[in-house]
Amino acid sequence: MTATEIAIVGVGKIARDQHVPAIAGNDDFVLSATVSRSGGLDGIENHGTLDELLAARPDIAAVALCMPPQVRFEAAANAIAAGRHVLLEKPPGATIAEVEALVDMAKARGVALFATWHSRFAAAVEPAREWLAGKTIRRLEVTWKEDVRRWHPGQDWIWQPGGLGVFDPGINALSIVTAILPEPLRLTEAVLEFPEGRDAPIAAGLRFACATGFPASADFDWRQTGPQTWDIRVETDAGDLVLTGGGARMTVDGREFVSAGDVEYAGIYRRFADLVGRRAVDVDLSPLVHVADAFMLGRRVTVEPFED
Ligand code: NAP
Repeated sequence: MTATEIAIVGVGKIARDQHVPAIAGNDDFVLSATVSRSGGLDGIENHGTLDELLAARPDIAAVALCMPPQVRFEAAANAIAAGRHVLLEKPPGATIAEVEALVDMAKARGVALFATWHSRFAAAVEPAREWLAGKTIRRLEVTWKEDVRRWHPGQDWIWQPGGLGVFDPGINALSIVTAILPEPLRLTEAVLEFPEGRDAPIAAGLRFACATGFPASADFDWRQTGPQTWDIRVETDAGDLVLTGGGARMTVDGREFVSAGDVEYAGIYRRFADLVGRRAVDVDLSPLVHVADAFMLGRRVTVEPFED
């Protein structure tokens, strides 16, 4: 089978760190072009706008949209209308309705649409889901604390409306939780800490309820210096499952089950190749629904200004 020609749109941190090497490592795709306002990648054809690319390169069958979520909808809609398969970085959009609209458009046009949740492809996530199936859960605790200066230097969009603030990493935790738990959670309480003068929160505390009644909480904070924490702890009748490293490692009662390096984007592109082959849609909005609920229900607290 010939490889699908793909273009990356928005050549920032995640495109360079992950998409470029993942595409290079997958025989089902070949990176044929970029769309970049700032020049793109050495040795790769670049277009200044997506419309220019769509007009100039009808042979490029797929696009990976790696720009900030606030500007993703129009690009995705135009790519779908032009009959291209679309991969969306997380979060898939700035609102729920716009992503639902993309699903309808992709189905009508018969192209693949993939709302990626990269943390779901971490090595221990599927083993955790399998291990938890059939267990009685007693408590869930998520602790996602990182240093925003280290991971998002100079990213103004992340503090603007639609940029999600600390939910940009926090939604990764929610994407794992919604994948591994045998039942859905619903948000019951949230406290969002907004730095004075910023439009997005720097910290958030969430509480959830569920049908079987176990307590569930998530604490997100962007002010953590030193060691970074991306942990999910699930207490069950059969032992305590702990995911660390953003889903890369899993222990049960301290005994190691899985420990692996970074396999997330290789998994994403394997899955995208499958979706392209079937012209299928894979869009799960449940992590974004929790975030939207937190903005709807959350008590807003103003905290001291944050300077990059
Ligand atoms: P970034 O470094 O700011 O890069 C985004 C790129 O998108 C920019 O370099 C720019 O590329 C383009 N862009 C920026 N503003 C734009 C606008 N208004 N209109 C059109 N294009 C624009 O951000 P990032 O960290 O790569 O994050 C991008 C997406 O990936 C986000 O949704 C984020 O949640 C997700 N993500 C990030 C990480 C991470 O570790 N950083 C991890 C996983 C997922 P050009 O100059 O080439 O046009």
